[in-house]
Amino acid sequence: MKTSLTLGLAAALATSSLTAATPGPLFDPQRLSDDVRTLGSDAFEGRGVATRAESRTIDYIVGQFRAAGLSPGGDLVKGKRGWTQAVPLLKSDFVGDPKVTLRLAHGAPMSLAQRDQIALRAPMDGSKTLHLSGAPLLFVGYGVAAPERGWDDFKGMDVRGKILVELINDPDFEGGEGSFGGKAMTYYGRWTYKYEEAARRGAAGVMIIHETDPAAYGWNTVKNSNTNTMFDIVRPDPRAVHTPFESWIQRDVAKTIFAAAGLDFDQAKAAAKRKDFRPMPLSATLDASGAARTSVITSHNVAGRLAGKKYPDETLIYSAHWDHLGIGAPDAKGDRIYNGAVDNGTGVAQLIDQARAFAREPRTDRSILFLAVTAEEKGLLGSEYYGNHPLYPLATTVGMLNTDSMGTHGPARDFSISGSAKLGLLDDLIEEGAREGRHFTADAHPEAGHFYRSDHFSMAKVGVPAISFEPGLDLVNGGTVRGEALAKDYVTRMYHQPADEWSPQWDFSGMVADAQLLHAVGKRLANSREWPNWSKDSEFRAARDRTAAARKK
Ligand SMILES: [Zn+2]
Repeated sequence: MKTSLTLGLAAALATSSLTAATPGPLFDPQRLSDDVRTLGSDAFEGRGVATRAESRTIDYIVGQFRAAGLSPGGDLVKGKRGWTQAVPLLKSDFVGDPKVTLRLAHGAPMSLAQRDQIALRAPMDGSKTLHLSGAPLLFVGYGVAAPERGWDDFKGMDVRGKILVELINDPDFEGGEGSFGGKAMTYYGRWTYKYEEAARRGAAGVMIIHETDPAAYGWNTVKNSNTNTMFDIVRPDPRAVHTPFESWIQRDVAKTIFAAAGLDFDQAKAAAKRKDFRPMPLSATLDASGAARTSVITSHNVAGRLAGKKYPDETLIYSAHWDHLGIGAPDAKGDRIYNGAVDNGTGVAQLIDQARAFAREPRTDRSILFLAVTAEEKGLLGSEYYGNHPLYPLATTVGMLNTDSMGTHGPARDFSISGSAKLGLLDDLIEEGAREGRHFTADAHPEAGHFYRSDHFSMAKVGVPAISFEPGLDLVNGGTVRGEALAKDYVTRMYHQPADEWSPQWDFSGMVADAQLLHAVGKRLANSREWPNWSKDSEFRAARDRTAAARKK
């Protein structure tokens, strides 16, 4: 009796909230829980890219978008928008282990064992065979060319046809010179940048020296994520961003190479931390051979849209990756389904409920695109594809609010974003948070480069202000002690494991508060003439300024 009375009251409140001038709760913990439970169920098979689970997942998201009242916002098919954006992906595997041989100044040739000494990626430069012969090794320090910081590790040296041996992270990570934010990692510190810069300069390949502290992870992570199947977006000119030889080597291997060239690794590293560093030839060459199996598969981003009433050509994006790891190696209990309930069932549930909330309210001035991207777990590829093939012009894209793993342990007093970045969008988030009595906590480990590890980064690269929201750890129930303990438990017991499954114990009231905050930020931007930008010293500022110039034309 009591239950039905409560339900009746709740229903009455829900109905009145639809018509009231100041709407009541827009988000509902039960609805969020149901969506997470569905997306994270075994029926969705861990939402693997380009598997039958992809169609099931896409059908579910499209069904919810449609029911909410969104319009299709995807690819134009015969002049009409569909619900998805096709994302062609290149898939590449080595057939057997590649052969890598070093010829040092003295002694017998040294062959490097794949996985134990070197982690060499299957080629993504478009070729099916790897063949290098006598490529000279050159130590280029951190491999950074940052004109806006007055830093150049190359000093005009021609690196074409050479294998660049490089350190990971920024020159100032361990107290070196230059203004790369100290401990915090800039994009110049990330391995993807180092590979891209080497390709731009026509190098034959890259060997990144693995060191645990500056990499922020151990050799096992390097090995596991580089020696399996590789994916990339299909690029018109893959050689522009990929050399044929992209690898990490163990620190001991590097020390051997330096010693054979009469150099001390630690001294060379100390030199690399200085602005006056010059590349050092290592008097060694490399031979490599291998065969790759490559194919192109098609995955999909999902896009639903609410057209703005005044400025429909201006777009704010809410995003979340729908994919997870699919079916893989069994855990101790024999479970092979990597459900990804938190990562990223929660982010998608937030995205769907955000769409429902905006659809129920009066239309905003600007358009809102709700974008569920694919292949985040393969290297942020669905979002990268969107950045290179935007459905709506980047110049008139206001910003992106991404959610990748939300909180399931009740409300927090604080909130955060992935990585350290300075941008107007963050200022807006902090202001709206303060209005709701909540405060911002900066990323406690900016050196781990989390800024470069979720989908907002793909948009940052093309200049669009973008953040990945992070739930706070200062929980209303239990404070940071409980919050940090639960976060640690998640990483050790669930993260990227079959145990990331929906639980009836989860408390979705914190996600409601976070969705409310993200709603406030989005609503404010979608009803303003504001064009958020990156801070003046940001590496993404120039790209945004270029598109801003296009906007004014
Ligand atoms: Zn994720």
